[in-house]
Amino acid sequence: MTKIHELLRTGTTYSFEFFPPKDEAMEQVLARTLRTLEPLGPSYVSVTYGAGGSTRERTHELVVSIDQATTMTAMAHLTCAGHTRAELVEIVGRYRDAGVENILALGGDVPQDAGLPPGELRHAIELVHLVRELGDFSIGVAVHPEPHPRSSSIEADREHAAAKLAAADFPLTQCFFDARHYFDLVASLRTLGVDKPVVAGIMPATRLSSIERMASMQGSEFPQWLREKLEAVGDDPKAVRAVGIAEATTLCRTLLDGGAPGLHFYTLNRSSATREIYQALGLTPAV
Ligand SMILES: Cc1cc2nc3c(=O)[nH]c(=O)nc-3n(C[C@H](O)[C@H](O)[C@H](O)COP(=O)(O)OP(=O)(O)OC[C@H]3O[C@@H](n4cnc5c(N)ncnc54)[C@H](O)[C@@H]3O)c2cc1C
Repeated sequence: MTKIHELLRTGTTYSFEFFPPKDEAMEQVLARTLRTLEPLGPSYVSVTYGAGGSTRERTHELVVSIDQATTMTAMAHLTCAGHTRAELVEIVGRYRDAGVENILALGGDVPQDAGLPPGELRHAIELVHLVRELGDFSIGVAVHPEPHPRSSSIEADREHAAAKLAAADFPLTQCFFDARHYFDLVASLRTLGVDKPVVAGIMPATRLSSIERMASMQGSEFPQWLREKLEAVGDDPKAVRAVGIAEATTLCRTLLDGGAPGLHFYTLNRSSATREIYQALGLTPAV
């Protein structure tokens, strides 16, 4: 078993994010993706959580099965919105008992039509403290380069992130398309006294409509220059994909050259974009 903050001390990490499949067809897609990506030797992989508990069992099962049945180390995402403290204690306790060592402690956004109460913990920092009390976990948190859409100002968001990081072990960033946002975030956190390694979240723009929708939902700017490059080949999905992958590769290089200690790929349960970027970066292991 492996703790992620310890891995970050030994060198650059490369990690992949998956979500728990909803049905059998999606299960098969994910099983194929895991088989294809495992030989790349990721430092760790993570599994998302449906805020309010919609994937409670599925996230648990997938995390435990990756940890136990593959060579990969898994991190469980967990959100506090919509949960009571007692529910969170039970969920974290089950991970501890199953030998899971890594948890990403998040706020989460419960869908408005879910009809759930807001939850007893108001912010992710409270979940970090709770997870810390319950076991010897490596605890990650989310940070928002652009910043988080609900924050009152960028300064307030950075200060909340710094406070959260005083308690957590490492941050993963929300995705962004311009390296400037990442470097601004790291500089602000350093000014606020945070010296923890800031892992960059990477989402390749392989389909214009879906990436724009996702970017706006999470408060990331989708830059005009990238839109123009994708629109220039807009009639040809293969060419759009190739441009998106080339731009994501350039972003990864800029981040690594600028000192990013880790790259976390939002795979959307597919393997090919991540594999191609890996190859372009020269990271594919020799077979
Ligand atoms: C790497 C990554 C993985 C993610 N995985 C998931 C997932 O699996 N499932 C899911 O549902 N969502 C996930 N999200 C989305 C995340 O849940 C949302 O972005 C959520 O709105 C904020 O989460 P947070 O952990 O940053 O929350 P928080 O740290 O609670 O911050 C939320 C807002 O509250 C503010 N704030 C924080 N502390 C305080 C305070 N003490 N007082 C006042 N304001 C405060 C912050 O500035 C921010 O505006 C992920 C995001 C990232 C970046």
